[in-house]
Amino acid sequence: MAKAKNIMHELSITQSIVDTAIEYAQKEQVSKVLELRVEIGALSGVVPDAVEFCYSSVTQGTLLDGTPLVIDWIEAKGKCPECGHEQIIDNYFNTCEKCGGLALEVICGEELRIKELEVE
Ligand SMILES: [Zn+2]
Repeated sequence: MAKAKNIMHELSITQSIVDTAIEYAQKEQVSKVLELRVEIGALSGVVPDAVEFCYSSVTQGTLLDGTPLVIDWIEAKGKCPECGHEQIIDNYFNTCEKCGGLALEVICGEELRIKELEVE
């Protein structure tokens, strides 16, 4: 059950990414999209594999049918408010590995966006 729910989550996200890309392509009167590049951060809650899995069915019969999807995975980084140490984090509850400080400031890793649309 949990797995199906996760896929549903990625399906709607993939759908909105694809919709946005198509909307843009139509507005710019693009005839063909050569590549769709998206950034997914480790804290976005989105599983890249699941997005890839949903992508081909979501794009079927659309302007993006056959357009390769490139996913840039972005590691999450946090900065300690106490000592300024920066480290890789995997959730919002990580503590500073240097001083044990709490509430690390998130520097990156929440990305979920279209980075680039390569067009013809
Ligand atoms: Zn610290």
